[in-house]
Amino acid sequence: MRQIIIIGSGPAGYTAAIYAARANLAPLLIASSVEAGGELMKTTEVENYPGFVDGIQGPELMLAMQAQAERFGTEIILDDVVKLELEGDVKRVTLGNGDVHEALAVIFATGSAYRKLGLKDEERMSGHGVSWCATCDGFFFRQKTIAVVGGGDSAMEEATFLTKFADKVYVIHRKDSLRASKTMQDRAFANPKIEFLWNQEVAHIYGDELVTGIGLVDTTDGTERTLDLSGLFIAIGADPRTHLVHGQLDLTDEGTIAVDGRSSRTNIPGVFAAGDVIDPTYRQAVTAAGSGTVAALDAEHYLAALPHDVLARADSQPATV
Ligand code: NDP
Repeated sequence: MRQIIIIGSGPAGYTAAIYAARANLAPLLIASSVEAGGELMKTTEVENYPGFVDGIQGPELMLAMQAQAERFGTEIILDDVVKLELEGDVKRVTLGNGDVHEALAVIFATGSAYRKLGLKDEERMSGHGVSWCATCDGFFFRQKTIAVVGGGDSAMEEATFLTKFADKVYVIHRKDSLRASKTMQDRAFANPKIEFLWNQEVAHIYGDELVTGIGLVDTTDGTERTLDLSGLFIAIGADPRTHLVHGQLDLTDEGTIAVDGRSSRTNIPGVFAAGDVIDPTYRQAVTAAGSGTVAALDAEHYLAALPHDVLARADSQPATV
């Protein structure tokens, strides 16, 4: 049995692992069966992570965090957690391959998942012109006309990035002003390839094999129009990934995991949460990293206070049940 298992490989998970490993807790970190590193693996330049004067590419930052966690003894498994049993002194973590790992403490840092528009053809056209990842798919839209939906930093970042490939990028926003930071807005406004369509909602996605256009509805007067294009990038935020702990951990009204004050303590002793999964507001790489630090320190204090006979059940060696 482990002292600690960390679930999630974004900035929160890796930072928690760095701290836990340096505290000699020999953490096991469950990344993901698809790709370790979380959402930053899909971004380009990260300009606001302190310490990188000229910015750093998202994947480069995450690989460095992974290497740093491993350097201090974190073991990383690339698989999905399919079941969590969190009550009691011993927590059980079941993976997609059927392995069950046990630990005295768990840090839950699963981040958030891209929000969907909820349109009939959205899933069907995913990968056929509908995308949630400009860095993954932008290349396919060279000299094309495309659109980005959303009014936050993600939408501005995606739209600006996509002008490297596309001839024309519409930004479709349901209001008449943006939520994005001023720097990101100004950059998008100054880009001659970007045109803003205000007060518009996407109501239809057209196309059989590939996207050929979208139907828009004006949110002020209900007027409908059709826009011909070949790509639709959806950048309307993300929701915390909490499905694994429904019925076990308390959630807030915003859907994030409820923690005690500024700590990472959830309603179950020995279970801690960090990063986007507890944060409906800031959701930055650096705040997630800070949150991972808090969780590792909270877990360390929790473990140190456990009775000796309980603690003795965990060793610092990797072990599968
Ligand atoms: P946000 O929640 O900030 O913005 C989501 C946007 O999508 C809003 O404009 C919202 O509209 C719109 N929206 C939400 N749901 C729908 C819907 N169903 N239909 C149409 N539009 C919808 O998410 P982001 O992903 O942009 O950003 C998340 C966090 O990550 C933020 O804190 C942001 O600052 C940060 N971030 C920072 C970056 C950077 O600094 N480089 C880059 C990317 C993100 P409305 O405004 O009407 O609510």
